[in-house]
Amino acid sequence: MSVADLPDLLSLSRRIINGGELTREEARQLFALEGEALYDLFYAAHKVRRHFHGNRVTFCSILPTKFGNCSEDCKFCAQSAHYDTGITPHPMMDGPEVAQACADARARGASAFGIVNSGRGPTKREWPKIMEAVRAMKEVDGICHCATLGTLTEEQARDLKAAGVRRINHNLETSREFYPHIVSTHTWQERVDTVRLAQRVGLETCCGCIFGMGETIDDWVSLAFSLKELNPNVVPLNFLFPIPGTPLEKAPRLRPMEILKIIAVMRLILPRQDLKVAGGREKNLRDLQSWIFYVGATSSLIGNYLATLGRPNEEDLQMIEDLELTWHDDRVGDADPAIAPPPMTTWQLPVLS
Ligand code: SF4
Repeated sequence: MSVADLPDLLSLSRRIINGGELTREEARQLFALEGEALYDLFYAAHKVRRHFHGNRVTFCSILPTKFGNCSEDCKFCAQSAHYDTGITPHPMMDGPEVAQACADARARGASAFGIVNSGRGPTKREWPKIMEAVRAMKEVDGICHCATLGTLTEEQARDLKAAGVRRINHNLETSREFYPHIVSTHTWQERVDTVRLAQRVGLETCCGCIFGMGETIDDWVSLAFSLKELNPNVVPLNFLFPIPGTPLEKAPRLRPMEILKIIAVMRLILPRQDLKVAGGREKNLRDLQSWIFYVGATSSLIGNYLATLGRPNEEDLQMIEDLELTWHDDRVGDADPAIAPPPMTTWQLPVLS
């Protein structure tokens, strides 16, 4: 496919708008696009985003409630105890700290807040502190309460649901085929099983991946269609910014246009999902970060990431205002992962100086 095939790209976006789907071969060709044709791809993805999501944009914020000392060996991660990354680990935070962080996130413009624990999954000993953190964030109204806790048992998933957690984040990280090159201490299937378990007990799911770890276009296609099959409510897209001390510290960085292309193709494959651009946005996209919304994203992280700093939230809110998009609160919505775009309520934009 080349720029001369623009009508094909437009008819492709029309097909998706009319309920059709991208094939794996089409996805492979689109992921391979380069040069001027990318602008046409962006336009096609924009049409699909506008149709399914309108002007809506949301932000979420995460808090590393338990940080570092992780038994797992994910090659991209600053928190793995297998690598010397110079981070300062800390044990599980107390409830008041979590409640304060959740209130701060709400005030900064996040419509969702997630506690994030390092580790393969919650131990019995950790569980009371986790429930304390859940109760603490539930003290803050008007925000979607989320949790990233690793592999869960059915009892834990049910406890979280009963305690008012609305959404579980658990990423696939990469394709089934490439996964053994990135993690050896747990399996890709374990990740899929946790997402399915969360869905079974009625939790919403946020399940995405990291690009830029050395995977191929075939891995991108495989990953994207695995996500399509899993049908999570939200798909966070992370773009590796290599962390010194990890085995991926010298991984070549994805180019900004390559990142935008990935977002655009993911939008065409997953037209109804909330596509959230998460880690690596500022550092990898630099001046092109506002393009994420044009090429298909509907959401982003606001504030800091787990192991790296984000930019001031005022800059993100100003970006949304300048793009004349609408900043929305996704509190309202059902937990049906069948993905009708949830009804959303418009937030009052704060006065920006
Ligand atoms: S990604 Fe999660 S499980 Fe893997 S090393 Fe980091 S904290 Fe541990």
